[in-house]
Amino acid sequence: MGRKLLLDKAHIEGIRHYDVYRREGGYRSVEKALKTMSPEAVTEEVKKSGLRGRGGAGFPTGMKWSFLAKPEGVPRYLVVNADESEPGTFKDRYLMEFIPHLLIEGMITASYALGSNTSYIYIRGEYWWVKEILEVAVQEARNAGWLGKNILGSGFDCDIFVQPGAGAYICGEETALIESLEGKRGNPRIKPPFPAVKGLWGCPTVVNNVETIAAVVPIVNDGGDEYAKIGVGKSTGTKLISACGNLNKPGVYEIEMNISVEEFIYSDEYCGGIANGKRLKACIPGGSSVPILPANLLLKTAKGETRMMNYESLSDGGFATGSMMGSGGFIVMDEDQCVVKHTYTLARFYRHESCGQCSPCREGTGWMEKILLNIENGKGKMSDIDLLWDIQRKIEGNTICPLGDAAAWPVAAAIRHFRDEFEWHVTNPSDALKGNYGLANY
Ligand code: NAD
Ligand code: SF4
Repeated sequence: MGRKLLLDKAHIEGIRHYDVYRREGGYRSVEKALKTMSPEAVTEEVKKSGLRGRGGAGFPTGMKWSFLAKPEGVPRYLVVNADESEPGTFKDRYLMEFIPHLLIEGMITASYALGSNTSYIYIRGEYWWVKEILEVAVQEARNAGWLGKNILGSGFDCDIFVQPGAGAYICGEETALIESLEGKRGNPRIKPPFPAVKGLWGCPTVVNNVETIAAVVPIVNDGGDEYAKIGVGKSTGTKLISACGNLNKPGVYEIEMNISVEEFIYSDEYCGGIANGKRLKACIPGGSSVPILPANLLLKTAKGETRMMNYESLSDGGFATGSMMGSGGFIVMDEDQCVVKHTYTLARFYRHESCGQCSPCREGTGWMEKILLNIENGKGKMSDIDLLWDIQRKIEGNTICPLGDAAAWPVAAAIRHFRDEFEWHVTNPSDALKGNYGLANY
């Protein structure tokens, strides 16, 4: 059994509430940090842990914290990104729903390290019931003296506010999130300046994912070195994976980042294999923004090495033969699934969610959606496949925020690995409509 640092107590009855959470050892990291450590020492432990941002980018958390500007007399902010909207990703929801005090505990400790006296949770609007759970937990923490003035007599003041979004995927992009939190339309800003220098209301701000901040609790409790012993290489600690699609046991799993993809899919401890005895066709291993991998490249890298569930191994081979760990949204497709149809569904999503600021993203996502729909419906031409390829190339790297890349990469990877499936749709228009390519060819 792999170690669990975040969800080990999530199943305990009543853990959602303060009394049970505290009885089970909750808020020890706040006591330890505020009573025995300086803010710099907390940041040092996070650096030592090797923790990387769990929202998708995998940026080293300790480094991000140390980039935070500290001009005299200017407030600093911690903003937790709970706008979890990446298709296939639902691990933050699970954590906040079942063990909300873990996030609040991590936030108080992180706020102390960063010098943030007012911290925010920006939560996806559709997670309205989770927002209510968080608000109850924040109030419980306030009542118990973990929030407010002079916490534990340390001289440190902190309060936390929960702000819902209004249903826009783009508000998960950190600068769009900041705009939205300021009460404006959630349009991404050009970076630099990074939020660490100019963030919320123009002040230095750290934006971290829910899981990242929750991981601060075991890191401070046990020490950064202990955390770094789990996992492998630069993929330290545990990672939450939301597994979905054609699996026997879809769900949220906490894994040590040293297990193979094969073990994760097929072992009974995790997903229990492909549902209905079908064969594995493909997988999007890190949420919809990362490249799809066909079964052969999912289980083994192009070098023939076992593919592992960690940052380095999942990206081994670059985008030609690899993918990314991303947000941990692990979407599995069996032999009956149509890659063209799934690619169209994603293209439609990105077109709908584009904020429209940059022409390559605004126009390109619409064109890709239309061309993919034609191909899927048996109305495509061979030249459409090359046109699709050309459009995604012109979006990638030419936009303000990563949504453009996120729209381009799935299309590129689908054509790269499943071009014959696109061609089959063009040459077999009536069968394409029935969507039976998968059965005939796998
Ligand atoms: P990024 O690589 O641009 O930035 C990562 C973080 O590091 C940011 O907080 C950024 O401010 C900080 N940073 C980078 N360089 C810095 C510097 N020089 N100084 C200070 N700070 C610096 O990536 P991103 O835009 O934050 O995230 C993109 C990822 O988000 C994608 O890979 C995708 O997987 C993921 N994503 C997740 C969801 C979800 O629901 N979890 C949704 C959409 C996208
Ligand atoms: Fe908006 Fe797309 Fe440009 Fe991002 S890439 S700023 S979503 S138009």
